[in-house]
Amino acid sequence: MQHKFVEFIPDELASDILYISLDYGSAVHKCGCGCGEEIVTPLSPTDWKITFNGETVSLHPSVGNWSLPCQSHYLIKENQIVWCGKWSKKQIQSGRHADSVIKQKFFKQRLSKWQSILSWISRRLGLR
Ligand SMILES: [Zn+2]
Repeated sequence: MQHKFVEFIPDELASDILYISLDYGSAVHKCGCGCGEEIVTPLSPTDWKITFNGETVSLHPSVGNWSLPCQSHYLIKENQIVWCGKWSKKQIQSGRHADSVIKQKFFKQRLSKWQSILSWISRRLGLR
């Protein structure tokens, strides 16, 4: 697999290329199994992360295409597809659950930061 840093994700994707748009914070590639489905992985603190070592890229965590017929599950590590085992329904559910817990934590932290900024402002303005 190769990677390509792009501004816009092209309409027609070549297989075996991981397109990375830093402007739009997402990476797109065609499913590693060859089924032709386009896989979009948003890049954010609670979604996927791209590591670029100057030559190759790695994508974390693994890509699990549970909603596709192929049910592929793999990692992209240094431009190589590393196949992972298929997940059972139970694992998929607990994985989804863990993901939503992380997201909730993240947004709560954000919220509390805003709350402390707001209370600081209102203290400065003498509202409290
Ligand atoms: Zn596939």
